[in-house]
Amino acid sequence: MKKISLLIILLLLIGCQNKEKLTPLHVIGDLKTEFDMTEFYDGHESEFESIDYKSDKLTAIDAMIFYDSLDKVYEDNIIYFVSEDGFMNAIDDKSIEHTFIGYSKSNGCVYHSDKHPPNSGIRQIAEIIIVKSSDEINYEYGLSIIDGNKDTTLHYSIGQLHLLPYRILPYLDGVSKKVTDGKTYEVKGMKQKRVLSLNDLVSEDYDLALLMTGEGDHEYLLNDGYIEIGQTLNYIIPESYDIYNDLKGIMINPPQTSVMDLYDDVIMHLDQPVMVIFIDGFSNHQYDYMKNHMKTYLNTFTHEKATSVFKPVTNAGFAAMLTGQTPKDNGVLDRSFRTLLSDDIFSYVTDKGLTSKLIEGNVKILDTSIDPVLNLDHNNNGITDDEIFTSAKASLDSDFLLVHFHSLDEFGHDYGPLDERTLNQLLLLDTYVKDLSESWSGYLLVVTDHGMHKTEDGGNHGEFRAEDILIPYLRRNDE
Ligand SMILES: [Zn+2]
Ligand SMILES: [Zn+2]
Repeated sequence: MKKISLLIILLLLIGCQNKEKLTPLHVIGDLKTEFDMTEFYDGHESEFESIDYKSDKLTAIDAMIFYDSLDKVYEDNIIYFVSEDGFMNAIDDKSIEHTFIGYSKSNGCVYHSDKHPPNSGIRQIAEIIIVKSSDEINYEYGLSIIDGNKDTTLHYSIGQLHLLPYRILPYLDGVSKKVTDGKTYEVKGMKQKRVLSLNDLVSEDYDLALLMTGEGDHEYLLNDGYIEIGQTLNYIIPESYDIYNDLKGIMINPPQTSVMDLYDDVIMHLDQPVMVIFIDGFSNHQYDYMKNHMKTYLNTFTHEKATSVFKPVTNAGFAAMLTGQTPKDNGVLDRSFRTLLSDDIFSYVTDKGLTSKLIEGNVKILDTSIDPVLNLDHNNNGITDDEIFTSAKASLDSDFLLVHFHSLDEFGHDYGPLDERTLNQLLLLDTYVKDLSESWSGYLLVVTDHGMHKTEDGGNHGEFRAEDILIPYLRRNDE
């Protein structure tokens, strides 16, 4: 009997106006994936019940079951119920067990609780916003703003962005025209977008800003635009109709140099032999620490603060270095890409009739135009950099030599970027650099692909934050 009545309710719910009414219920904010109402109903059919609500009946489900089904970014959140007429209630997620989210024809979507004060009840819910309530930061979701001068990162979660005083931008979608009785009638179709401007989010003055997206854009912002807040973020420039999808972050006061500058730098100096020493995972924070606390050969180099690309991982940083192009243009967005869509520096060197060599560890990272010289860990000390160093020493007759050391990144992952063991490894690499440099009379650069941030159990990189994105770019002083 119960089954039949439930079935009827569900049929009503799904088949009738209920579904249409419920579909516009948007759950937004700090979620990893978009909430899907239909999917939720399909998965929880048997958990809906009919409860009394004022003089009405609600088809309802325990709010906790609903909340648990959300793919949340953070453990602890505040739930904001927003009604169609703008009322908004904030309720702690810890207190929602045995309260209800339901629907009735006359009241629309309803939040109902006997535990909370009466004003907790809210009808005609248009939107539910999930907003983190802890200080925890997950840089994979939301918007990060790096200050390139101060090396700091400001982070807003998507939920937090939805609580800021955003504006509604009527964004022109298209113009349609129809000729009726010889006269042209025109309609401008627009879409309302929730937007914030960068100035709404930062208090510092800045002259320049640089945006990076998950699609590999690396763009200096010359025109004012808006950050569109949705489940993912976009950057819109109304003046030119440019939209950058999947905005990952913006850097204000960005350095002038980027990892992509290596390409031109090498080309400009090919009138002499060029050596590039690539120390994987060397953050600008580490460089600063080294400069201030350690005695190294590298301290004698001219230093420029530079930016990596998004995603700050080896494949993307290395590809940007070798092609001088953004990830969007060279096609290498993250670790899953190996094929370069634009020519690399080795093919340029080869075309000039010069020789080049790429000295690598035990794996080929990208499909470069020349095959790398791979080096196995022959002495089984867990590191290939000693073999790479020996291999580099045997290749000093090349016109262009690129030597890729890996151990700083490995130590950074294992122990953290500023751990004593990691810094000792940096000192060892410093002796390799000194040795190679002393046997090289040409042009010499020391560069890296991305930085490294500290984690609870070591270090990592790949996020839009100052430690991962800001890197050193070092030139030997030849005067
Ligand atoms: Zn790397
Ligand atoms: Zn790494």
